Amino acid sequence: MTFRTVISVTLVAIAAACGGKADSANTKGAATAAKTTPDSAAGAVATEGAGSATADTTHGALPANHNGKIPVLEYHVIGGEKNGMYSRTAASFKADLEDVYKRGYRPITIAQMLDKNFADVPAGMSPVVFVFDDASPEQFRYVENNGQLAIDPTSGMGIWQDFAKTHPGWKNRATFCMLNGGAAGHNFFGDATKFEGQKKEWRFQKVKWLADQGFELCDHTLWHMQLSKYPDAAVQEQIARNQMGIDSAVPGYKIRTLALPYGLWPKNRELAWKGSWTDPKTGQAHPYNFEAVLEVSGGPTKSPYDPAFNPHSITRIEAIGSDISKTLDALDKNKTRFVK
Ligand SMILES: [Zn+2]
Repeated sequence: MTFRTVISVTLVAIAAACGGKADSANTKGAATAAKTTPDSAAGAVATEGAGSATADTTHGALPANHNGKIPVLEYHVIGGEKNGMYSRTAASFKADLEDVYKRGYRPITIAQMLDKNFADVPAGMSPVVFVFDDASPEQFRYVENNGQLAIDPTSGMGIWQDFAKTHPGWKNRATFCMLNGGAAGHNFFGDATKFEGQKKEWRFQKVKWLADQGFELCDHTLWHMQLSKYPDAAVQEQIARNQMGIDSAVPGYKIRTLALPYGLWPKNRELAWKGSWTDPKTGQAHPYNFEAVLEVSGGPTKSPYDPAFNPHSITRIEAIGSDISKTLDALDKNKTRFVK
């Protein structure tokens, strides 16, 4: 904690430059370079300060393979001293970003994958989906200095933003599967109290910021229920109340993806993507209907062009040890990687 706090304070000035209004701030200076690169036309975020952001085409030499597989990477806590089942150190997270970038992967969301929208991936390159589960402050933390709010550069989102600044074509595309009633700060990256210095009122602000940036918001239940152990009514309440929470932060947001806590299916499988909960206090029904359900593991997922693609069972690769790089090695070796 102490170490982290010191770093935060030192780097707050840097973070202030990239944190708050990344999109508008970053368009200047990048415009000329952006014209020449097919990958940077829409999301100007990635090109700020990158005077060398000429063309993001150096890695895009692979032949198209639209039936190839897509790696969907699964992260939990970003930080800590060493890697674990549910945590990835900042250094390892940075190394993962560098690794996928060098191999010619560019990020998209699950929603984009469903839509077969690969506009953010240059031809000859491959899509990768980063999914962040559980909405911990370690993924997205604010720091405050003299009333100025900035993204903590040591949090997952701070690392992501710094990476985007120096890596042309790296856009704000990832999927956040959030809890809004989890313990220990797993409540829209904070808590109802002042958890790890994160203020209660910052929670909705963060969720809204993510949506505004182009990140995808995903349902991960209210408090990470083991859906396999509960009756149908409880399952639907957990899922619907998380959707309501997201709607409170971003009114009208259409959630398309759910991540199963622990990868556990409800007894009635369909309730993972379709159901309804009626609030006994108001008598109002809260239906939900998602297109995608994310499993916890299972390797790279099938292409949406593959007739066998099942959006209700999208497999993922957990960010554990060197599982990600091994999987990417295998995709290259077997030439089974999706290439635009
Ligand atoms: Zn989870």
